[in-house]
Amino acid sequence: MVNEKSWRSLIDELKATSTTLIAVSKKKPASDIQALYDLGQRDFGENYVQELEQKEAELPKDIIWHFIGHLQSNKVKYIAPFVSHIHGVDSFKLLKEINKQALANDRVINVFLQMDISQEETKFGMDEKEMVELLSYYEAQLKELQNVEVHGLMGMASYTEDDEKVKQQFQLLANTFQHLKQTYFLQSPYFKELSMGMSGDYKIALQQGSTMVRIGSMLFGERD
Ligand SMILES: *Cc1c(COP(=O)(O)O)cnc(C)c1O
Repeated sequence: MVNEKSWRSLIDELKATSTTLIAVSKKKPASDIQALYDLGQRDFGENYVQELEQKEAELPKDIIWHFIGHLQSNKVKYIAPFVSHIHGVDSFKLLKEINKQALANDRVINVFLQMDISQEETKFGMDEKEMVELLSYYEAQLKELQNVEVHGLMGMASYTEDDEKVKQQFQLLANTFQHLKQTYFLQSPYFKELSMGMSGDYKIALQQGSTMVRIGSMLFGERD
């Protein structure tokens, strides 16, 4: 079931800051995606490769698919023909594989580098040092990496009631974004996105400069 009222109020709220809403539809049926699509939503986020492949096959072709889960290099080929954005890039190996598969499909895939801002064992992502390392390889091989465009950073805050802690984690992501932009992307028109904020913390993320929020349960109800 889709919560149309929440969707409408979110769209209104995000308009003021031109923030993109990614409707996170993992574990929800294609009929729920179709229902939001019929209201006008186009950006959808999925976490699992097989589930995304199945949904893509049966849903309208102008959906903008965001892969937001943990992606293994050997599975990139399954989503490369159609995926628009991959949010969880956490190694140079994965970045190279995305480029290879995008090239094979004669496409460009937009990517986000995932930063581990919560410093919890359960969350994926890189620290700043690892991102700097990745970006120096990227710079050195830029000519061969023409089929990926780095659009920005992605992060997930801790799951906590402590708003101050969440705020600090989003601030860390925003500050790192500025720093990396100055160092590596001053010439790039693409590096301008901060993918941060979920149902429980998107208001804090907006205050810290989010340009893309990834929202699931608020739109589709709780998952099993
Ligand atoms: C599931 C998920 C979301 C959405 O979470 P909600 O709390 O349902 O809004 C956002 N980002 C990622 C990476 C997710 O895995």
